[in-house]
Amino acid sequence: MKIIVLKFGGTSVGSIQRISKVANIIKSYSKKYKVIVLASAMSGTTNKLINMSQKISKNFPDHEYDTLVSAGEQISCSLLSGQLLTKGLKSRSLMAWQIPILTEGKHKYSRIKYINKTKILKFLNSGTIPIIAGFQGVNKNFNITTIGRGGSDSSAIMFAKFFKAERCVIYTDVEGVYTTDPNKLNSANKIKNISYEEMLEMASLGSKVMQPHSIQDARLNRIDVEVKSSFVKKPGTLITKRKNIINNKIITGISSTDNDAKVTLLGVKDRPGIAASIFKPLSQNSINVDMVVQNISSDGNETDLTFTIKSYDLTKTKKIIKNNKNIIFKKMIFDKNVSKVSIIGVGMVTTPGVTFRMFQALANKNINIQVISTSEIKISVLIKRANVIKAIKSLHKEFNLEK
Ligand code: ADP
Ligand code: ASP
Ligand code: MG
Repeated sequence: MKIIVLKFGGTSVGSIQRISKVANIIKSYSKKYKVIVLASAMSGTTNKLINMSQKISKNFPDHEYDTLVSAGEQISCSLLSGQLLTKGLKSRSLMAWQIPILTEGKHKYSRIKYINKTKILKFLNSGTIPIIAGFQGVNKNFNITTIGRGGSDSSAIMFAKFFKAERCVIYTDVEGVYTTDPNKLNSANKIKNISYEEMLEMASLGSKVMQPHSIQDARLNRIDVEVKSSFVKKPGTLITKRKNIINNKIITGISSTDNDAKVTLLGVKDRPGIAASIFKPLSQNSINVDMVVQNISSDGNETDLTFTIKSYDLTKTKKIIKNNKNIIFKKMIFDKNVSKVSIIGVGMVTTPGVTFRMFQALANKNINIQVISTSEIKISVLIKRANVIKAIKSLHKEFNLEK
């Protein structure tokens, strides 16, 4: 029998009733496959644990954060395994240290490097279904690590890689990957097939249906990923190689973010190296600068510099800039009520006029564009957060993504 990896997200294991439904799905696969299951924590659990740590300290240590938040998956895995036993199947829950799943990198943001197959193969060969905790690993010192929010997607894809699974199926609370978040826009359309490249852009630009790192891993290892609903039995979305896809659309999807902040430094001395002197201390403090725009100074002496960061990094950013005597500017302004809206599609590589159409569609709705950034297959604009839904709606229509 071939191996299949199934991953169930938080909502899919969000209650005892849901866990029972998931056990039925696993049971149906177990007739045809050796099944490896990855589970997330029950929905809301991880957030609850993080909130508790924040009440203790805003600087809760990262290694304790990992020990704390990885606990959520222990609960869902044991419940799911117990549920399978009641349905007459053999099953065991497994935490990362029991396998082990080895990670590298910093706490909170580790990456899976190696999975020891011995124990799991023994289970599979004896007809036992392993229910494995997603999101967690151990480092070389056997300390517990986690791999970033939404990381169970990555766990599943790495299991598919190490066990050369025939397929990796991501079960979630929507029917697949849509042209835009179906919980934000009713007319969003389910996408049948999407390339790794487009999915990676969508995920990185705010479509939380898949964790970005997981798509990088899938692409690197050429693993086909199916995204589907654990609530209704309907075909989902296949994330696959570009050459497997026939698509006549210019734009495949639209993403948006809801945790960006904009920082503007007015009256910055316009001399070589100034941007580097501002961004170096930010990068040294692990603050990711995303969009950047610098105005041309009219007198050659001073300029204005605008950039975006994640809103949770704003306090730290303000402090770093204020305390750095090498950064000379007149005034600093912030805006937390901004969002990035992006259109994504490999079709734009060969189609001229996409930028114009995007900007015109937004202008027609009176939406002001504050910052722009582009890559080969995406265009992003920063706008007022209050305008996000209006912007998505108009772009969805402009690029014929409607149902
Ligand atoms: P899980 O707990 O199963 O991992 P997530 O909450 O991480 O689920 O991801 C599923 C959610 O992603 C959906 O409920 C939906 O609101 C959101 N989402 C955002 N963009 C998209 C998109 N383009 N297609 C589908 N879902 C999307
Ligand atoms: N439970 C983790 C989180 O909420 C991992 C996951 O859901 O994939 O981020
Ligand atoms: Mg998720």
